[in-house]
Amino acid sequence: MSEIFTGSFTQQEPIPDEAIAAAVEVMRHGRLHRYNVAEGEVGETALLEREFADQMGPKYCLAVASGGYALATALRAVGVGHGDRVLTNAFTLAPVPGSIAAVGATPVYVDVSEDLTIDLEDLAAKADQARVLMLSHMRGHLCDMDRLMEICNAAGITVIEDCAHTMGAAWNGVPSGRHGAVGCYSCQTYKHVNSGEGGLLITDDAELAARAIMLSGSYMLYGRHLAAPDPEVFEQVKYETPNISGRMDNLRAAILRPQLRDLQAQVARWNERYRTVEAGLRGTPGLTVVERPEAEVYVGSSIQFLLLDWAAERVQEVLRRCADRGVELKWFGTPEPVAFTSRYDSWRYAESPALPNSDRILAGIIDMRVPLTFSLEDCAQIARIIRAEVGAVFQGKAVT
Ligand SMILES: *Cc1c(COP(=O)(O)O)cnc(C)c1O
Repeated sequence: MSEIFTGSFTQQEPIPDEAIAAAVEVMRHGRLHRYNVAEGEVGETALLEREFADQMGPKYCLAVASGGYALATALRAVGVGHGDRVLTNAFTLAPVPGSIAAVGATPVYVDVSEDLTIDLEDLAAKADQARVLMLSHMRGHLCDMDRLMEICNAAGITVIEDCAHTMGAAWNGVPSGRHGAVGCYSCQTYKHVNSGEGGLLITDDAELAARAIMLSGSYMLYGRHLAAPDPEVFEQVKYETPNISGRMDNLRAAILRPQLRDLQAQVARWNERYRTVEAGLRGTPGLTVVERPEAEVYVGSSIQFLLLDWAAERVQEVLRRCADRGVELKWFGTPEPVAFTSRYDSWRYAESPALPNSDRILAGIIDMRVPLTFSLEDCAQIARIIRAEVGAVFQGKAVT
């Protein structure tokens, strides 16, 4: 009898007690709106922004309603508007091209390479097609950020980083989100901190920060921020920046502050689990492990491997057999998008020429979430199941 995994791939850990207590406190006093503060009081949202800025190192930080909202706000704040083109990854999640569409702009997709990062050759080749790059560190994979910044600086391209999967990660010692002009994070339940919904935006650029704060719906209350530029900076932008309401509230901020203090410990726990799965998969015939570069500190909240150049039916057979044994895998090569696996050619509102190099990689990407509710033994068991089923299909013992 072959073993079956019975855990849930979508079960989060509970919100920490300290965060629950802070949230209850906010509900007791009733001042949930970020600008609704008592005399002399500093709200949870302002504190969250100050603390996240201290943690990541930028001068300015803004908390908002979602990660996708942070991305669109960053685009608006750097001046992207209707009819503009924005470079972005062919391999990313729907809210990324969605944020580009939200400002009336059009994505220009850059290929994904076999290590699942943006293809820097393709980026260099397309560098003259836009003045902004929305760089998605999709599934937590960081490209050679030094090289990427060289290419973008040489071409005068402003970089916005989508760090939805890299909160807590770093390249060559620099935190993810600190290479480009703006870093955007998501605090949605499936990311690295959990307030249900939420986003954070960081930057060192004072005018950009002031615009983002005005855009988020600060009215003229920016003086209540703790990680905002000086009031003089707002003088230039406050009349010409629309209020596109998307604030964070004190309840979510209260839930997030203790979680952010715990981030490094959680990263270590994710990576133990990731490495256990990875070690169990290594050496499986037909399966390519995605090797992580020395310079990358990653957060193993999900794991990807490649069944590169496999026939679609055989990949489907692997997925079916793993699902039968309780292991939920997602496939970016699926003809119809399922859950989060849509791809550049699923986003038909934004026409794109075919990208044969990306098509080949996407057709081989298998993805699995690694929730912290898995034990290390769960991770080892999951890897044994995948290894057995990939092996069986690869060796042709399981052809339908
Ligand atoms: C989740 C996610 C986002 C958007 O975050 P939301 O908070 O859900 O809006 C953006 N990019 C990537 C890669 C994501 O996974």
